[in-house]
Amino acid sequence: MNVVVLLGAPGAGKGTQAPLLAARLGVPVIATGDLFRAAVRDGTPLGVEARRYMDAGQLVPDEITVKLLLERLARPDAAAGVILDGFPRTAGQAEALDAALAERGTRVGAALLVDVPADELVRRLSGRWICRAAGHPYHEVSSPPRAAGVCDLDGSELYQRTDDQPATIRARMDQQLGALSQVIEHYRASGVLRTVDGLQPIEVVSNALGAELAAAGVVVAG
Ligand code: ADP
Ligand code: ADP
Repeated sequence: MNVVVLLGAPGAGKGTQAPLLAARLGVPVIATGDLFRAAVRDGTPLGVEARRYMDAGQLVPDEITVKLLLERLARPDAAAGVILDGFPRTAGQAEALDAALAERGTRVGAALLVDVPADELVRRLSGRWICRAAGHPYHEVSSPPRAAGVCDLDGSELYQRTDDQPATIRARMDQQLGALSQVIEHYRASGVLRTVDGLQPIEVVSNALGAELAAAGVVVAG
């Protein structure tokens, strides 16, 4: 099982890069933010609980998040491997993932950090539009869709997330950057951390991530 963890602050470009990496590897993307937004949209009990945290720009508690992730990881399409986007975000989540993978006789193959400075993150998030069908991200300046308001990849409508407002963006940064640094240290300690400069154009970042995967010995499809 090829498990690749994509790490970065909110707005670093994880959601942009994850589908490109998934295509290279031939495995699905699991994005916990997308799983939570689907649960909110469907009005499930987990969605109602998670929404309180998401609207405040806070992390959803580990207990809920780990359960959601492990259920998704157990589905048959994840058997050969996955790209994890937005998980783990705390040291506790990283430890829970290690334990779950150890039970299957495997481990995280690579943790790829997309590194972007804070002022650029705010610019990226405040101009972000994402599609209703699959959460594909666009940016009104740096990465506009071919037709205004429509996803290039699946034709669905684009919208701005309620948590991409300036006040919530600041709250997310304040809340999440400390936890992110703990997750980075977790993977540095286990020797699988690889860092890419996320300020480069999308294609250049994608190629750099592909090169890091190859260097980590994670098999790249085709
Ligand atoms: P994350 O999933 O890490 O929060 P996204 O992939 O949604 O980040 O990207 C945040 C915003 O930045 C989006 O509007 C996206 O179009 C834009 N973006 C992503 N990568 C780049 C890049 N390399 N250069 C410029 N803008 C980018
Ligand atoms: P971003 O674009 O900020 O990286 P995501 O779409 O990944 O955002 O996540 C949106 C929200 O969902 C987060 O602000 C948080 O409330 C919640 N969330 C997503 N993944 C996790 C996680 N691994 N742990 C806790 N909360 C999470």
